[in-house]
Amino acid sequence: MLIRTAAVSPFFKNGYVVTCAATRQAVLIDPGDEVAELLAAMAADRATVTAILLTHAHLDHITGVTQAKSATGAPVWIHRDDLFLYYGVVEQGRMFGFDVRPQPAIDRFYEPGRQLEFGHCVVDVHHTPGHSPGGVCLAIGENDAKRRDLFVGDTLFAGSIGRTDLPGGDMDTLLASIRNVLFTFPDDAVVYSGHGPETTIGQEKRTNPFLRGAT
Ligand SMILES: [Zn+2]
Ligand SMILES: [Zn+2]
Repeated sequence: MLIRTAAVSPFFKNGYVVTCAATRQAVLIDPGDEVAELLAAMAADRATVTAILLTHAHLDHITGVTQAKSATGAPVWIHRDDLFLYYGVVEQGRMFGFDVRPQPAIDRFYEPGRQLEFGHCVVDVHHTPGHSPGGVCLAIGENDAKRRDLFVGDTLFAGSIGRTDLPGGDMDTLLASIRNVLFTFPDDAVVYSGHGPETTIGQEKRTNPFLRGAT
């Protein structure tokens, strides 16, 4: 599995291309303002994107969906509970002082227990509300291995947690998502966050000041 990431100003939000090494099928996660870099990485890896997966629908995670969808033709997936944010992207932009265009229609909703596949890789989608109502963790790995890499959006960061002061956010819900969903993965599971460097579940269990003593 190949993992490429890119981030640009002003949000420095991480977008990802995850590619099945054997088949070169790929998923594009959270395309934002860095979408051109992600599409270049995709081309460099000779990857074919079969799905655009959103961890949640804050504007920094979705401003590149138009370009991603027109370049790849891939369907866009989201959790239903973040639909109001997705279709409210122009208002989100206004709130932060940015002129944001509406994004294309959503194609598919994540469903409980339904695994997505690309090449020889699988995506298990776990609902992790708190930062936003429809936030998800995308647990991705090879279909014949146990290891999963976690794409957690803005739920958990290296040394921090997501903000809960935006519409639909809730601190108790966020902490419960981290403890009851993310912290059930093994300590060596790598966490790819929406902002900042990667970390691991064990590292955050031990050192994250918002979560120490959680388990
Ligand atoms: Zn966010
Ligand atoms: Zn973000």
